[in-house]
Amino acid sequence: MTKPKPGTLEVLAVRDVSPHMRRITLGGHHLSQYPADQSGGYIKLFLDNPGWDGPAVRTYTIRHQREDRGEIDVDFVLHGDHGIASRWAHNAAPGDLVTVGGPGPKKMVDMSADWYFLIGDMTALPALNVNLEALPDSARGYVVIEILHVDDVQQISAPPGLEFHWLVATDNTRGREKVVRCVREREWLEGRPFVWAASEFETMKALRRYFKKERQLPTSDVYISSYWKHGLREDEHKKVKKQDAESAEQ
Ligand SMILES: Cc1cc2nc3c(=O)[nH]c(=O)nc-3n(C[C@H](O)[C@H](O)[C@H](O)COP(=O)(O)OP(=O)(O)OC[C@H]3O[C@@H](n4cnc5c(N)ncnc54)[C@H](O)[C@@H]3O)c2cc1C
Repeated sequence: MTKPKPGTLEVLAVRDVSPHMRRITLGGHHLSQYPADQSGGYIKLFLDNPGWDGPAVRTYTIRHQREDRGEIDVDFVLHGDHGIASRWAHNAAPGDLVTVGGPGPKKMVDMSADWYFLIGDMTALPALNVNLEALPDSARGYVVIEILHVDDVQQISAPPGLEFHWLVATDNTRGREKVVRCVREREWLEGRPFVWAASEFETMKALRRYFKKERQLPTSDVYISSYWKHGLREDEHKKVKKQDAESAEQ
């Protein structure tokens, strides 16, 4: 598929999924250029960036796509006023317009694995949900999710054999410690696992060390991605992520 050129979408609805997660429904003719089955794929928002040369580009996941209605839902973590996208989501109202590029490919777990480890913070919840909804009923393993507040726990439709661990942390370092401890404490199951993890950069690195160095999982059984980095804007994070990927390959 050739990716459509960025186009304009309109905010159709805004609702809070939980205290720190806002769901924004976007719609418009432009979405007719999207292929079907893009839930879990990513889009790029082009947001006003006063004082800068050009818009701020921010990456988000398509939580739901309703092809018949020409709509997508995007779940934004409300992490404060200092993020352009977080602030945009906080203030968004029906009728607002936004330029959107994409869609980019979704990252799905390997359905032939014997068991699963799915790990993420709130930025990963949309993609994680899409993965959980796709798993067969027989799937087993662990889901570890870092959230900002106990009320950010979501109702998730998932196979019964998955054991959920919701970890509350407002501080990034403590969050990382909790996630890594929780992951390490889980009993290693029989057979071939598939690991899917997306989180803050340092947490990603700690998880990568555990699964790839300590547990010696081959690259084909692991998807681990950094979705943001504490203290860096997305454009800055992107550069660090690229350098890290290049050095990790060597
Ligand atoms: C493939 C992919 C899919 C993603 N999908 C989603 C999604 O569906 N929903 C979602 O909310 N995010 C998602 N993200 C993460 C999102 O792109 C980043 O959090 C982004 O930096 C937010 O932009 P911003 O303008 O709000 O903050 P920026 O201007 O980029 O950053 C400003 C400051 O806020 C901090 N910051 C950024 N994100 C967070 C956060 N989550 N918590 C605390 N501090 C933060 C930065 O470290 C920086 O100090 C995704 C990222 C990727 C790579």
